[in-house]
Amino acid sequence: MRFSRTCVPTLRETPSEAEAVSHKLLLRAGYIRQLAAGLYIFMPLGWKVMEKINAVIREEMARIDAQELLLPLLHPADIWQKTGRWSGIGDEMFRLKDRTGRDMCLGMTHEEIMTWLASREIRSYKVLPQIWYQIQTKLRDEARPKSGILRIREFIMKDSYSFDRDENGLGQSYRLHEEAYHRIFERCGLKFYQVESDPGMMGGAMAHEFMAPSPAGEDDVALCDSCGYAANVELATGVSPETKFEDQPFEEVHTPQKRTVREVSEFLGASPAYFIKSLLFIADTGPVLVLLRGDRELQEKKLQRLIGTCRPALKKEVLETLGVEPGFIGPMGHKIRIIADKALKEGVYISGANKADYHVRGVRPGKDFDAEWTDLHMVKGGDRCCKCGG
Ligand SMILES: [Zn+2]
Repeated sequence: MRFSRTCVPTLRETPSEAEAVSHKLLLRAGYIRQLAAGLYIFMPLGWKVMEKINAVIREEMARIDAQELLLPLLHPADIWQKTGRWSGIGDEMFRLKDRTGRDMCLGMTHEEIMTWLASREIRSYKVLPQIWYQIQTKLRDEARPKSGILRIREFIMKDSYSFDRDENGLGQSYRLHEEAYHRIFERCGLKFYQVESDPGMMGGAMAHEFMAPSPAGEDDVALCDSCGYAANVELATGVSPETKFEDQPFEEVHTPQKRTVREVSEFLGASPAYFIKSLLFIADTGPVLVLLRGDRELQEKKLQRLIGTCRPALKKEVLETLGVEPGFIGPMGHKIRIIADKALKEGVYISGANKADYHVRGVRPGKDFDAEWTDLHMVKGGDRCCKCGG
């Protein structure tokens, strides 16, 4: 075909709605056009690229003996009700009724349908393992579609599912997929990391994400230069820099109107690393007191994995539950569940005194209060690697 007959509408100026570099370039080169928020048209050149990527995926999936199939986009609700995800998934799922009034939804993922199929068609362990995949449109009612085709409401996804004889078989299928995905991303010329991640709504014991660094991205990843450890910060663990503690007697100090770690730390001339930050959360099971070192931030996803959905307590709730105003909470003497970040386990700290305008010095974890010890803080640059110490 002659170029003069093609539809490749390039643009001289960058359209004002585009912020991400990829979005600007795709628009200017005539690869995509936006129909509405989060809905894009792939123009002839854009679609050619898509088909090339699909061809790479199909070749690499064939190498691990995966079989391609195609599932419907429109699903009956009962299949999703059976697994509990009809109510478990919120507004991101597009829901509708057919002409008879039957509840239906548009697929945002296909575990339910794949297992429905497997439960009917796999009649003996002898046919296992089976790896089934599809390259199919998915729909997700994103609250804030953005960055061109990076976060959209209708997108094409390759999703693959393995059915295995046992745990070992699952491990083997997992490794095959890892290898296939490495080859796919390498062949596409991407710089990428395989990072440990939260399985989230997919469930399961563990998960990995393949992440390509981008200034338009929304996730943060912790990387170790020495051993290659890579994890989404939602679950990454790091070793906090060590702190030297001075032995101090347990004593109250007057801290009028000093509430935040920063205010008290400046007032007393002690580094935030010597403070216990006490935060009250309200979970479905009741109030939970969360403790962190003063120089650390809470990673809320880590807390949610332990106690389910939760939210910070209101001022009124803090007063009712702990008998003290926010800003002066200490971990001592409470009868509610207490979960503490393990970076706090050793040392001598300053915390709120459970009394307005007072803090206490010389607080010893394990002696002055007890807690469930776990990893709760957000890793940050400069922490040491949890795998190699680098
Ligand atoms: Zn490391």
